[in-house]
Amino acid sequence: MGSYDPSFAKEVFENVDFGDEIKMCMQCGVCAASCPLSLQMDHSPRQIFTLIRAGKREEVLGSQAIMLCTSCYTCEVRCPRKIPVIDVMHGLANYALKHDFVPRKDTANFGGKFWDQIYRIGRIDEKDLSRRYFFAEGIIEGIKGLLGFSDIGLRLFLHKRIKPLPERKIKGIISLRKMLDKAEKMRGRGGASV
Ligand code: SF4
Ligand code: SF4
Repeated sequence: MGSYDPSFAKEVFENVDFGDEIKMCMQCGVCAASCPLSLQMDHSPRQIFTLIRAGKREEVLGSQAIMLCTSCYTCEVRCPRKIPVIDVMHGLANYALKHDFVPRKDTANFGGKFWDQIYRIGRIDEKDLSRRYFFAEGIIEGIKGLLGFSDIGLRLFLHKRIKPLPERKIKGIISLRKMLDKAEKMRGRGGASV
């Protein structure tokens, strides 16, 4: 259990995207009961919101749960207080990464490679994305990763969901990059890496 930080709730309310929405949570538990990933999460969204109020900074920012949310919207449409749970969870994940907490390294790595590819060519090339993601940890890890997904890759290829040639840049890549740069600036992260 992490130490108690009495200013953590205020820190979240003021600095995390949508963090002040947590004030409206009445701890009914509907989000926790609805979330299809609750069994994989170390803390349900309801528990995360309680831990924030309890000043458990390390426990919240180090929680895998904040990076597991798949934006399925089940909790959000059921929340009686209309709290944007997804935005809060993603806001917490971004805030954690900015403060050198990496609750799920693989998720953070994949997100980084995904973002970089969108920035470079404006679309996703599954072959290139998989190669960059799997080989980020070295050649051996890369080969192991690719072999683990070879069955799925082959099926995608046979069903023409993966093209043999590399994807080209989209026509409006310059405009897209300007938008992404602006989005990065608004999030206070600086420019995207390419
Ligand atoms: S459903 Fe809404 S009000 Fe209920 S615990 Fe979850 S976030 Fe809080
Ligand atoms: S949006 Fe996220 S937190 Fe909400 S139910 Fe879906 S996976 Fe769970």
